[in-house]
Amino acid sequence: MMFMEMLWIETPTNPTMKVVDIQGCSDIVHEHNKDTIVVVDNTFMSAYFQRPLALGADICMYSATKYMNGHTDVVMGLISLNRADVYERLRFFQSELGAVPSPFDCYMCNRGLKTLHLRMKQHFKNGLAAAQFLEADPRVDRVIFPGLPSHPQHELTKRQCTGCPGMITFYIKGKLEHASTFLSNLKLFALAESLGGYESLAEHPAIMTHASVPESERKELGISDTLIRLSVGLEDEEDIIADLDQALGAAHPKK
Ligand SMILES: *Cc1c(COP(=O)(O)O)cnc(C)c1O
Repeated sequence: MMFMEMLWIETPTNPTMKVVDIQGCSDIVHEHNKDTIVVVDNTFMSAYFQRPLALGADICMYSATKYMNGHTDVVMGLISLNRADVYERLRFFQSELGAVPSPFDCYMCNRGLKTLHLRMKQHFKNGLAAAQFLEADPRVDRVIFPGLPSHPQHELTKRQCTGCPGMITFYIKGKLEHASTFLSNLKLFALAESLGGYESLAEHPAIMTHASVPESERKELGISDTLIRLSVGLEDEEDIIADLDQALGAAHPKK
């Protein structure tokens, strides 16, 4: 088992929130070659909303830095898998290379996991409320949130996930200047990369997280100058919506 084929899926994708059919992809790949490894980056959904191994994937991977730890105070990754041969090989690499997290980080992450179910429910509730608010707002062009019926893969999302995290992508009306005025006027949302923590964050993918993606590719992916990514936190719903409302007002003042 020296060389292995691998299919790597991230669902929903970052930042344009395309939803990939995990069971469908796993079936096709394993029919073609049962030894091909299907890996799912499950960082956005967390183990609470989506269970890739039950949908035919061989490896489920997380940046535990995000929802799994949930408190923005650890940088860690984890995988779970259901293939003994792959486990043995990865276990070998881990012990030979020594790439293991510190006991303190493990303690922090373990503590965070105790409230995963409560946090994810609140992220879903807040995320849905914010997405509905933005979708109804005339200062917004388009909202992409898999939990909204307007999402092209909403039915697939309902089939394969039990909820949605607080990740929302939307296009503000106007140009880059409107996006930057919106972002610089947010008070409750912090302007920051990362995601999945207790606090609400907002960022501009074209300038921040995805600045290293060539412009032509960004265009193809729909990562435009008016695209904004939110990680909706655990604050009160009314405070989150009031902040979005006032920042949209700053970007699009009434004449
Ligand atoms: C943040 C992130 C990663 C990288 O994880 P780190 O813990 O920052 O190294 C990988 N995949 C997704 C979907 C992420 O959001």
